[in-house]
Amino acid sequence: MRVPVELIARYDKAGPRYTSYPTVPAWSASFDENAHREALAAARADDAPLAVYAHLVYCAQKCFYCGCNALTTRHPETVDRYLDDLERELDIVVECLGRARRVAQLHWGGGTPNLLSDAQLVRTFAMFTERFRFSDDVELSIESDPRLATREQLRTLRALGFTRISFGVQDLDPVVQKAVGRIQPAELVEDIVAASREAGFRGINLDLIYGLPRQTVESFSRTIEIALALAPDRVACFGYAHIPTQRPHQRLIDESQLPDARTRFELFRLAASAFTEAGYAWIGLDHFAREDDPLAVAQRERRLHRNFMGYTTMPGRHLIGVGMSAISDVAGRFAQNEPALAGWRASVESGHLATIKGHRLSDDDRARQAAILHLMCNLELPFDAVPGDLAALRERYEGFEKDGLVTIEADRFAVTPLGRFFLRNLCMELDTYLPAQKGVARFSRTV
Ligand code: SF4
Repeated sequence: MRVPVELIARYDKAGPRYTSYPTVPAWSASFDENAHREALAAARADDAPLAVYAHLVYCAQKCFYCGCNALTTRHPETVDRYLDDLERELDIVVECLGRARRVAQLHWGGGTPNLLSDAQLVRTFAMFTERFRFSDDVELSIESDPRLATREQLRTLRALGFTRISFGVQDLDPVVQKAVGRIQPAELVEDIVAASREAGFRGINLDLIYGLPRQTVESFSRTIEIALALAPDRVACFGYAHIPTQRPHQRLIDESQLPDARTRFELFRLAASAFTEAGYAWIGLDHFAREDDPLAVAQRERRLHRNFMGYTTMPGRHLIGVGMSAISDVAGRFAQNEPALAGWRASVESGHLATIKGHRLSDDDRARQAAILHLMCNLELPFDAVPGDLAALRERYEGFEKDGLVTIEADRFAVTPLGRFFLRNLCMELDTYLPAQKGVARFSRTV
């Protein structure tokens, strides 16, 4: 597939990743703690199982490319204090939701959850088991920094019941690792992945990033080769979002070393063809999964879902996020926690939820959310799922058809293999908030 450079330039725009619709910049500060409490109270009325996300914010050091809300510490007592506050927040959430509510999915992200000592991991886990009831088939998953993982830690996590572990690999080339301030030799990653298997993890995920400084097609193909040899169950291949105005530490990255749009495109194309040729299913935008992995099965059965945690098999009516900056999606309302430690802490220590903004979905929002999910998960948009004016959307999609990104069938728009690379651009046409966000909200590049 030869892709003209003009096509890449035309679609290389700033745009959302659509882990939610409406996206966070469209949310309002008028959605406050009371509004979030109301959402939790509404969720109390049904018995739908919950997905829970805990943001464990601390890392040992900051990677230059980091786009997460992360703080650094070397002091266990700093982590203890964060856990004290997390426990306070959980108490408030449970007071609204009711005790012993069923949980089908618990994910710990960050930050670096495995910065916690074994005792802290056990303590944090108990915070959840004491307040929630886990389904028999609950999925427990954790993000892990291979540099901090140990055999003992892996055994502790398995003993707690974690079955899925995601390792931040990013890139295994020493030159790239130096340019992004994260040194982790391939042997270290290989060793810890083998140890995870020995410990009994059934789901091993690797996270890669393309678009990093000093990355070349040759260097990234070596990273992919090593990643494939590790036989992960899933791979996420994210595009690096360089937004130093929002993430000042990204100024440590030398912009002149960043790959241009054409190279970025080639890096992702390389990953997509290498993983699919090796038998992985390409999931939605940027994930790859073994054909027998639940994510690949869900995509085949058109049950795939996407939320703040990325692609998931569980539509989960309610997602509860706890910790600094965590996002909840409860009873048709989004709510985000205060992203700064002091503000989040002051709220929860005074018995309040730390809601800083949110959004209650309108009927139009729901229809657009469903349409975007359809594109992101099923790679098509049936005409009867198009919100608003079909003729107007069709006219705009005719431009995409000319460029080979979609075909317009009798009853739907279907994304072509080339169109998969521009999925975010296709979704942007459905986003009614986007025009007002131009120049205000800062999104990553779509290519
Ligand atoms: S380990 Fe992850 S969360 Fe922590 S600084 Fe690095 S990229 Fe950010």
